Amino acid sequence: MKKKKKLFWFLLPSYWILTAVAIVAIAIYVFQSMANLNEQTLETDIKTRALMLADRISPLLDQNAEEQINQLCQQQGKKTSTRFTIVLPNGRVIGDSNALPSEMENHSNRFEVQQALAGELGKSLRTSQTLENELLYVAVPLFDTNGAIRCAVRASLPITAIREQLRPMTTRVIMATIITGFIAMFVCIVVVRRITRPLQTMSQAALKFAEGELNHRVPQQDVDELQHLSESLNRMSSQLSDTLSTIIKQRNEQNAVLKSMDEGVLAIDTNNRIIHANRVAGEILGINHREIKKTSINEIVKDAEMINFMTQVTKDQQRCNRELEFQQEERIKIIQASGRALWNSTDDSIGALIVMRDVTHLRHLEKVKTDFVANVSHELKTPITAIQGFVETLLSDEWKHTKSARRFLEIIRQQSGRLNNIVDDLLTLSRLEQADTNIIRKPNRILKVVENAIKIVELQASDKKIKVETDIPKKIEWTINAPLIEQAMVNLLSNAVKYSDPEKKIVIQVIEEQDQLSIRITDKGYGIDQKNLNRLFERFYRIDSGRSSKQGGTGLGLSIVKHIVQTHQGIIKVESQEGVGSTFQIILPAHREEPVNQQDSSV
Ligand code: ADP
Repeated sequence: MKKKKKLFWFLLPSYWILTAVAIVAIAIYVFQSMANLNEQTLETDIKTRALMLADRISPLLDQNAEEQINQLCQQQGKKTSTRFTIVLPNGRVIGDSNALPSEMENHSNRFEVQQALAGELGKSLRTSQTLENELLYVAVPLFDTNGAIRCAVRASLPITAIREQLRPMTTRVIMATIITGFIAMFVCIVVVRRITRPLQTMSQAALKFAEGELNHRVPQQDVDELQHLSESLNRMSSQLSDTLSTIIKQRNEQNAVLKSMDEGVLAIDTNNRIIHANRVAGEILGINHREIKKTSINEIVKDAEMINFMTQVTKDQQRCNRELEFQQEERIKIIQASGRALWNSTDDSIGALIVMRDVTHLRHLEKVKTDFVANVSHELKTPITAIQGFVETLLSDEWKHTKSARRFLEIIRQQSGRLNNIVDDLLTLSRLEQADTNIIRKPNRILKVVENAIKIVELQASDKKIKVETDIPKKIEWTINAPLIEQAMVNLLSNAVKYSDPEKKIVIQVIEEQDQLSIRITDKGYGIDQKNLNRLFERFYRIDSGRSSKQGGTGLGLSIVKHIVQTHQGIIKVESQEGVGSTFQIILPAHREEPVNQQDSSV
């Protein structure tokens, strides 16, 4: 960029030029006035000399004494160092102080003479043809008593005399001009400095503000406008300082919050460059969170699944939750990642916010728990089967038991049967937990699946004279794991039968709408109190445990249903009213080969 001129050097030359022009103009004016005055004085002087001579010539003219007139001219010319010439109206010279009149040419063509012979004062500045030097001529007319012009009396002085007189004056004017010029130049410097210095001070202050020195203050100014400007600058800096401290405080608070979070927080822009990462995010990704600002995630995250997830969030600008297996060196971490788009104040997307939680330990504990339950259930299965076998044997007719012994054996059979059911349900649950979402799904006709489930509960329903009606379009096909959905249907239908009075009706309705399948099972049973609805799907949660036990319930049926639905990325809902009946609704989304979003399941 071209270097800019300083204000001082910008103003000073203009001031100097302006002052120089003014001084020179004044000097010329003064000089001219003096020259004019001098010329006028000289002119009056010459005129007076001519008039005085004219007075003395008048009587000589009466006598026609041309010789005396010429002598008078010579005498007076010598005395007064003036050249006198007497010219008759016909232009003939009859007297001259410096030349012989008889040798002089006719003077009627001389301008000043012409004017005098015309009755006016004649003036002319020119080189004398007779004397050959520059002269100032003044000619006056001499009238007779009748007012007729008798002659013109001309007096002249060399102009060099006037110039000689003017020379010292010119020198003085030039000297005065130079001195005044120097003084004016100095005054200009002082004035320009007085103008530029406060501006310089303010510009330096503004520079300091820009560099962050907001405690700096602009000094007081003598000029009103500049004082206003300096006050405004000071006010602005103190406001900036306040705003800055508020921002710093807020940022510190935000940093403190982000720092002490257990979750990793990562903000990325639309080009996948990191805007912010907290300590935990750094730990999860195995990087130093302080050194990665503005770095692309592709450079620091080596795990393809994690990069895909982040790219997807920035691209889709939608909420996205996923559990990722994150390979880091030799270890595999399980990260629960949740991403959403970042919006600025004008609602434009500026990137994405990823919140990460390391659930490796949690998942490990869950696995240990599931394995433990599965192992225990598995280990219990053999003794229970043995107990059930021996009880059945003991209850056969071969054995003669007392009445109370038979009653005890009946209780053992009933309780071991219950225990067996619980163990079966626990094994089913742990199998479901282990399978998670990795179940095999195929397109299946829903009507077929539901009919299979109905067959299983048919006997139970007919015992209570309960009818099961269906409203299922034949052609509906859905990609599901048929045995699991059948199991869920059996559990729901079995509950509907168990918790209904005899001769009631159960309706199964299947509707395909947009991208989801809805299966509704409605009964006219006992219904469920609103306060119990929230906990209905918890393991071993039973509303009326006495009634449930009597019906052979384990309290695990609905948990199994919920798990099955979740493995299909679906949701289960329940609506119920005590004494009226219940409706359980399973909603299954259309199956995608590689599910992207694991939606929150709601009950
Ligand atoms: P259980 O084996 O005891 O039936 P579930 O998990 O299947 O266990 O059900 C939990 C509880 O929910 C049951 O004890 C019962 O009180 C209630 N319940 C389930 N289905 C129904 C229904 N269709 N009508 C009324 N209550 C129900």
